[in-house]
Amino acid sequence: MLIMRVSERRNLHALRKSWSNTIGKMLVLMLTVVFVFGTAVDPIGANKAEDSGLQLWTKQVGDAGTADDFLDKPFRLSEREAPQLPKLTAFDEMANSAIAAKEPVPSSSKVVYLTFDDGPSKHTADVLDILERENVKATFFVLGKQVKQHPELLKRIDKEGHAIGNHSYNHAYKKLYSDFRHFWQQIRDTGQVIKEVVGYEPRLVRAPGGTYLNFDRQYFQLLSQAGYIVHDWHVDSGDSKRSGVPESEIMKSIRAGVRLPHTVVLMHDSAGHGETVKALPDIIKFYRDKGYTFEIMTPDLEPVQFKVSTRKRWERKSVTQAWIDQHVKAVDVRGEKQPERQGEQQSGKQPAKQPEKQVERQNDSSLRFKATTEVGMLNLQPGQYKRTQQNTYIPARILTTHLDGNIIVSDNHSTQIELQFKQGTITVNRATGAAVWQTDTSERERLIWKGIEEDGVLWVPLRPVLDTIGVPLLKYEFIPLEMGKIDA
Ligand SMILES: [Zn+2]
Repeated sequence: MLIMRVSERRNLHALRKSWSNTIGKMLVLMLTVVFVFGTAVDPIGANKAEDSGLQLWTKQVGDAGTADDFLDKPFRLSEREAPQLPKLTAFDEMANSAIAAKEPVPSSSKVVYLTFDDGPSKHTADVLDILERENVKATFFVLGKQVKQHPELLKRIDKEGHAIGNHSYNHAYKKLYSDFRHFWQQIRDTGQVIKEVVGYEPRLVRAPGGTYLNFDRQYFQLLSQAGYIVHDWHVDSGDSKRSGVPESEIMKSIRAGVRLPHTVVLMHDSAGHGETVKALPDIIKFYRDKGYTFEIMTPDLEPVQFKVSTRKRWERKSVTQAWIDQHVKAVDVRGEKQPERQGEQQSGKQPAKQPEKQVERQNDSSLRFKATTEVGMLNLQPGQYKRTQQNTYIPARILTTHLDGNIIVSDNHSTQIELQFKQGTITVNRATGAAVWQTDTSERERLIWKGIEEDGVLWVPLRPVLDTIGVPLLKYEFIPLEMGKIDA
């Protein structure tokens, strides 16, 4: 058989053209990638925290130490909700020097997503009153059992234009994390309970306690396969460290928290969180003073997800392909609302308008994409990467070269392309894009992503491929080609 390489370079021009059509169809929230300190950051999946947060994060996890350090030193797991970005004096330093060096961020582009977990409860009405008074929208990750008790509060959350996410039925860690089947059942049950009240099942999911040490790759993959979007957070308000954390301590955590262009803040509106209610006006003021606007999370927002750890907190078996085939069905998004943007009028009972899907990604042509993996750095020019809602794609050729692998196509008419790495082989079906992973010792595993072949170039999503192969993505960023050309 003839072994032939897929060429990329000479086709980049044509490819850019066809890709720009696709780009035109992307969703509005892709604009969530903004420019701060001259650097735009695009969360690429599991190992993510943005901007300087990411740098610190990866410093903690990747460069400076082991996963053990990650847990025991800078990140202390609270009883209820897991890890928090470390205190960021280093961040401030970096930010300050960056501000001095580059254009300041237009404040209108900074967005904070306030999130409330574990409700609704007796405190939820107070939270909603404050949000209404402040004209702020937030996101509520609710428990199925709490919705059963307070359906009227969920209705109010929905009616007032906040977003709803699924936080499992009963928050019972042991059950949820000892077996994916239990987790799945709770997400489905809670989805149904929510749907009975507000008419749709949300796709947003937050893992009780966060994903860190709780989720493995299969949890992420199967939820994603079903269309759920799992969100962790950037800033833990610390209101669940123990019971009755006082307002002053919550504010301290908020002030110490990382401030990214898009920042997700974790709070709780469950019973026992009266102090969170007290702190809320100050939290809103804090972010407002820093130039942030407040938005709800929507399904097209790129998710914040903690790194999948090699450490295990839970003993469990993966679920079988047979079980997956039988049970993991796509979430029914019918009736799902795209709640209104802040400042827009809600049109009574009518479902909010879908956001205009036209979006310009002109900035991609002025950004380099730099990614650092365990084996080195990838430095890609505009045209050598492309972004979708979920991932950043790069040519398979570039990735296999980076990872010291091979790309094999038997001939132009062959039905598949093999990406061979020392850890195993990914086979991409050229007709469907479907990808399969196989190692010497493992069975064939269908992957959830698809390759895209255009003009002889096979594009693959960077982070999922690295996850599959087991090469950690340590850091990534989008860097303007020229400073001072950042659109306000
Ligand atoms: Zn929770």
